[in-house]
Amino acid sequence: MEDNMMENNVQELIGQILESIEAGVIVLSGEDRRVLYENEIIKEFDKVREAIINSCEDELIYEFCDEEFELWYEVRDIKVPWVNGEQSDVYTVVDITNSKLQKKRAQYQENSDFLTGLYNRNRCEKDLQNEIDKAVESGQKGAILFMDLDDFKHINEGLGHQYGDVLLQAIAEGLRNIRNADGRCYRIGGDEFVILVPCEKYGDIEDIISDIKALFNEPWDLMGAQHFCSVSTGVAVYPDNSIDMHDIIKMAGLAMYDARQSGKNQVSYYKGSSNHNFKKNYDIENNMRHAIATEIDEFVVFYQPVVDTFTKECTSCEALVRWNSKALGFMGPGEFIPLAEYLGLITEIGDFVLEEACKQCRKWNDEVAPNLCVHINLSVLQLLQKNAVENVRSIMERTGVNPKNIVLEITESFAINDMERVLNIVAGLKELGAGIALDDFGTGYSSLNYIKQLPLNIIKVDKTFIDDIVEDEYAQAFIKLIVELSKTIGTKIVVEGVEWQQQYDVLKSLGVNYIQGFLFGKPVNPGEFERMHLRKGD
Ligand code: C2E
Ligand code: CA
Ligand code: CA
Repeated sequence: MEDNMMENNVQELIGQILESIEAGVIVLSGEDRRVLYENEIIKEFDKVREAIINSCEDELIYEFCDEEFELWYEVRDIKVPWVNGEQSDVYTVVDITNSKLQKKRAQYQENSDFLTGLYNRNRCEKDLQNEIDKAVESGQKGAILFMDLDDFKHINEGLGHQYGDVLLQAIAEGLRNIRNADGRCYRIGGDEFVILVPCEKYGDIEDIISDIKALFNEPWDLMGAQHFCSVSTGVAVYPDNSIDMHDIIKMAGLAMYDARQSGKNQVSYYKGSSNHNFKKNYDIENNMRHAIATEIDEFVVFYQPVVDTFTKECTSCEALVRWNSKALGFMGPGEFIPLAEYLGLITEIGDFVLEEACKQCRKWNDEVAPNLCVHINLSVLQLLQKNAVENVRSIMERTGVNPKNIVLEITESFAINDMERVLNIVAGLKELGAGIALDDFGTGYSSLNYIKQLPLNIIKVDKTFIDDIVEDEYAQAFIKLIVELSKTIGTKIVVEGVEWQQQYDVLKSLGVNYIQGFLFGKPVNPGEFERMHLRKGD
């Protein structure tokens, strides 16, 4: 009797203790799995409770998952004699769902790109290493495709990051849907994507590539407006090119650089280190950053005359930048402007050219040629800067140039961007008093509708249209058409790249007002320009 009371007291005491801990507790008889005791909490964990009662688990610690509700529990089993002396199993059950989820999340973060939901660089490296190992073992081949967006900077910096983010997400979705690419797409940097082509899929690599091309041939719908954004793709093949994972990624990157160099929207295979412009680009990049930071006057502005077809007078000139690099020698804009745009350095160089050309224009207006106009090229990137108009205004004010004598040349690549925004910026520039010229007419996406909406003063016809003007009737008809068009919309026409007298004669007879080209003079430094074109009679 006394024993029994004692047993009850102890049981009660233990009950109180077990009730106050934050774990489910259930005590089962070691013999017949009868419930000897359970606390309130375990009753809430009904699934795990049932499982414990019905299980014959030998493990002393194990995890249990309630799949229906995605709950995780840790179960501990302690074998002790219960208060009644019976051998028993005391199970404590703790809800570990939170820490499980945290772990899962950490694992996801470690492997995934938060913006697009694709795998990230880290995961790419792991997967690639595995695939290379497999390829080496099985004697097969695999590859990676390294993609870098050609126009991302335009959209991201021009329209704002929210557009850029939407674009990256749309592209990620598109890549994910490419046949044979699902589960092997990675975003490894800002606008850099990788698709891993494992041995099993290597035979399909050309299909994958053409699917990528098809994907980027369509415009992207970004917040209601359509934007084209092409991609340059580099391919490296393992184990042929290397069996080192880091090398393979680097080589695919080099091949991508090559693809970009040969024009947009291209694909290049890695061809061995000697065949790549990478080293050169790398040198140019470093030297360009250095020059911009400390040696901006390595950049010099040359001027090329624009001549009135009827009077043969030089009425204006175009400012064309060159880079006289101490380390790399003299370079034309074709060699560094695209790279500067790519690296986001074009604004610095562009601002320098703007300032120089405005100063020079003012000087010539003051000293020798009051009405001479200077044309200045503006990169699309420069124009899409947030403060583009303000920036041009302040440079004009600082240099004291008469805005009437400045013509800003913009290109048709504009057309890929948000039209409304472009129109606003161009209208703002025009309000400053500057003229607006549409450069490289005929080479881009231009539609007549688009030209109609821009407040243009001048249309510059690209050299390619007049190379064969003397014998090509189609080219002549085209120029005639543009001359008519320009009369209708009230702009002037400048034809570029005129090298021969016969070309000049034909163009003049077709009614072209102005001509720019080697026939009248190459781009030269300001001193020479002044001597050759402004002080001829002196
Ligand atoms: P662009 O604006 O179309 O400039 C005309 C280009 O045609 C110049 O090349 C000029 O030297 C060349 N050219 C003119 N007449 C003839 C000719 O009769 N025959 C031949 N074969 N070529 C002729 P350049 O100076 O090499 O400039 C190339 C491009 O670089 C320019 O094309 C322009 O898009 C860009 N660029 C030059 N300076 C600047 C700048 O300050 N800012 C920006 N954003 N771009 C610039
Ligand atoms: Ca130009
Ligand atoms: Ca041009």
